Amino acid sequence: MKTVKDYIRTIPDFPHKGIMFRDVTTLFSDPRGFRIAVDQLLHPYTGTDIDRVAGLEARGFILGGAIAHQLSQGFVPIRKKGKLPGRTIEQSYSLEYGEATMEVHDDAFQPGERVLLVDDLLATGGTAEAGIKLIERLGAQVVGCAFVIDLPELGGRKRLEALGMDVHALCS
Ligand code: IMP
Repeated sequence: MKTVKDYIRTIPDFPHKGIMFRDVTTLFSDPRGFRIAVDQLLHPYTGTDIDRVAGLEARGFILGGAIAHQLSQGFVPIRKKGKLPGRTIEQSYSLEYGEATMEVHDDAFQPGERVLLVDDLLATGGTAEAGIKLIERLGAQVVGCAFVIDLPELGGRKRLEALGMDVHALCS
């Protein structure tokens, strides 16, 4: 029986030479693969109160939407700067070369809400940390950070755990 990891393919030299890109489109396009990924992402949170699911652009939208639907809760997109139409708050973070900024609508979460944050892959943790800060700045609480893939050598898990986060990944 295939595991989640078996549905993920690696594309060498994308988007730059020397990068091994973990491609989850093959996981998403397989009916069983997508089903087990969504189920396994949610599994540790069975019995946990979750008011809302937040997804990081862009593959976090696909997973987060499916998870929110399964929980019968709402979904909030956390997007790259300049994509959301309403009033936003923004959070910048460092990349290897330069800086990136994520945004969320300033009315996307209510104070005290319990949020599950979702993305396809955890590398340095910079993107997820920006998402956590945005959620927390609006007064909501992150009850878990769920990823399909963790690249442990890039330190994201340790970075998020140092913030007190519960980190869940399906494979590494
Ligand atoms: P981080 O901010 O360094 O943790 O990078 C994580 C972000 O980059 C996530 O939003 C991922 O979707 C994206 N990312 C980085 N490397 C890969 C990859 O190999 N495959 C898919 N997404 C990646």
